[in-house]
Amino acid sequence: MEHIALKSVSKDYIGEGVTTSALHDITIDFTKGEVVSIMGSSGSGKSTLLSIIGTLDKPTSGEVYFDSKPISKLKLDDLADIRFTNIGFVFQQFHLLPSLTALENVIIPLFNRKISFNKTERAKELLDLVGLEDKLNAFPSQLSGGQQQRVAIARALIAEPEWILADEPTGNLDTETGNSIFSLLLQLNKTKNCGVIVVTHDTVLAEKAGRVIEMKDGSLIRDRRGCPI
Ligand code: ADP
Ligand code: ADP
Repeated sequence: MEHIALKSVSKDYIGEGVTTSALHDITIDFTKGEVVSIMGSSGSGKSTLLSIIGTLDKPTSGEVYFDSKPISKLKLDDLADIRFTNIGFVFQQFHLLPSLTALENVIIPLFNRKISFNKTERAKELLDLVGLEDKLNAFPSQLSGGQQQRVAIARALIAEPEWILADEPTGNLDTETGNSIFSLLLQLNKTKNCGVIVVTHDTVLAEKAGRVIEMKDGSLIRDRRGCPI
C-alpha cells in the first residue's frame, strides 16, 4: 500500500447527552516511506486521527482511501486482511501479554493466520533487529519499559507491514529510553522503508520526523515537510 488518504474526515463521539467533536473535516494524505509526527495538546484529536488512519475506528463522515480505494466499501474480513499485511501498531502502554515470553508475544498477531514463513525464525530475527536477541524467553515483567516497547515494535513488524502507526510510543519512557525508541522507528523507516506515523507530545522528538502535523481542537493547524535529520 503506497498511499493512505483521508478526505473530509470528521469524527464525533456520541455519548449520553453529550457529543464530542473529535475531528473536523480533515483532508490529508500520506505516502509510504514518510516519517510523520502528529503533535498537539491532550484532547486535540491525535489518537482519534491515528485510529482512523489505521482503520481501528471509523469516521462519522468523510472517507479513508487505501491506494485510492475507499475502505468503507470493503468487507470487514478484507479490511482486516489489508490491515494485517500493511499496518503494524505500537501503543503507549505496550500491551504485551504478561504470561507469554518476548518471543511468544511477537508471534501473537499470527494466531489463526495462514502464513508461509517460519514464525519462530522471523520473531527471532525481529527481536535481534530491536536489540533483544538475549531476551527471547524473558517475560514482560522481567523487561524494562524500553525493552517492552522494543518487543511491541518487533510484534508490530511480524507481518512485514509497510506502515507503522505509533501512538505516544515514548509516553511511558524516560527521555533517554524514549530517544532510543524514536531512533529505532527512524531506523526502521530507513532499513525497511516503512512509512512511520507517530503521535507524540514530545516536540524535540517530533521535529526529527520529515513531516510534522499539528492538531488543535480537532483541526489540522500545521503540516510541514522539512529536512529529516
Ligand atoms: P489526543 O490523542 O490528542 O489526546 P483524542 O483523539 O484522544 O485526543 O481525543 C479527542 C477528543 O475526543 C477529546 O475531547 C476526547 O475526550 C474525546 N474522545 C476520545 N475518545 C473518546 C471516546 N471513546 N468517547 C468519547 N470521547 C472521546
Ligand atoms: P491518548 O493518551 O493516547 O490520547 P487517551 O488517554 O486520550 O489516549 O485515551 C485512552 C482511551 O480512552 C482511548 O480508547 C480513547 O478512545 C478513550 N477516551 C479518551 N477520551 C475519552 C472520553 N472523553 N470519554 C470516553 N473515552 C475516552
